Amino acid sequence: MTSRISATVQQIPKSGIRDFFEIVQTMSDVISLGIGEPDFVTPWHIREAAIYALEKGKTSYTSNLGTPRLRSAIATYLAQRLQVDYNPTNEILVTVGVSEGIDLALRALINPGDEVLYHEPCYVSYGPTITLAGGRPIVVPTRAEENFSLNVADLEKAVTSKTKILMINFPTNPTGAAISAEKLAELARFCEKHNLIVLTDEIYSELTYDGATHHSIAAIPGMKNRTILLHGVSKAFAMTGWRIGFACGPADIIEAMMKIHQYSILCAPIMGQEAAVEALERGALSVIKMRNEYERRRNFVVAACRDMGLPCLMPQGAFYIFPNIAKYGMTSKEFALQFLQEKKVAVVPGTAFGASGEGFVRCSYATSMEKLKIAMERLEEFLKERK
Ligand code: PLP
Repeated sequence: MTSRISATVQQIPKSGIRDFFEIVQTMSDVISLGIGEPDFVTPWHIREAAIYALEKGKTSYTSNLGTPRLRSAIATYLAQRLQVDYNPTNEILVTVGVSEGIDLALRALINPGDEVLYHEPCYVSYGPTITLAGGRPIVVPTRAEENFSLNVADLEKAVTSKTKILMINFPTNPTGAAISAEKLAELARFCEKHNLIVLTDEIYSELTYDGATHHSIAAIPGMKNRTILLHGVSKAFAMTGWRIGFACGPADIIEAMMKIHQYSILCAPIMGQEAAVEALERGALSVIKMRNEYERRRNFVVAACRDMGLPCLMPQGAFYIFPNIAKYGMTSKEFALQFLQEKKVAVVPGTAFGASGEGFVRCSYATSMEKLKIAMERLEEFLKERK
């Protein structure tokens, strides 16, 4: 019998992270370094703003674009943080997380067969969302030897007359790589040369370390008109469950994205939007506190890995390390499975983030220092047993 599931959906794999965590669910007392979400609860003043909104009876739909108050808070926040000005009336769309923003942007732009470049290892949704939108995902590899930076030379090899979009994500999930202002300027010139639209996922932009400043490609002169900036409150404000993101870009593209959003989602939840206003307007101190704690943990886990002889780059942002486990003679999936079964610590096989993740595992340090210490002790035991 021919399948009743669409050929396109059959073509896309299930997320490697989900597969793995179905196994974790069946086990008890596992320390999870697997899931990419803050271990902090949303700061109290933000939760309180949502409770207050509910008390006032704010339970309705909002404008499809998002509440004017939130759009104006987003415009102010981005102008201050990233030095890029968006008009809240027609250049900002509030989405259900950055996840929806990625999907809308791709669906609004792609004609069948258009090619989309993106760097790998990368967030699990990029390839499948491009396929679902009818595009052709074109992977551009990044390498540990080059700090997982994205090279224009590699992009030049991959670009064709069918390329329409370049997707970038700095700081990067899963490698923690950031990008310098100079490299970003090179990417901008590449996009201008080949007339590409840039989709920039800056969900981790507040979480940069060692005093580094995050730069957005949207702020480079001449780039705003060809860039869709995707951001949201999930990571930096510990608000994954509120499902609020925002897409900012040229009015014609935002209008096209809004059309899809209007028919498929209608609007992001009003309680989440109310909470996001509070986060963006008054959450800076909470973000700094959490960021400082991530930096302390990052320094600890990287030093611990290096002490036990595991090659591990110092990530410059996000909350993941991506150590190289290749010398233990196992695939990254075998490594993660055996480590889970023998030591009850969950890490994600690097291949969940694309084929170029082979030889690596992703460990999130968005978990308490106590748990990280135990996890690192268990990792050391596990590696010693394989010497
Ligand atoms: N983009 C990247 C790079 C991510 O790592 C994630 C979540 O892990 C998302 C987007 C999803 O963000 P949101 O919760 O805003 O949908």
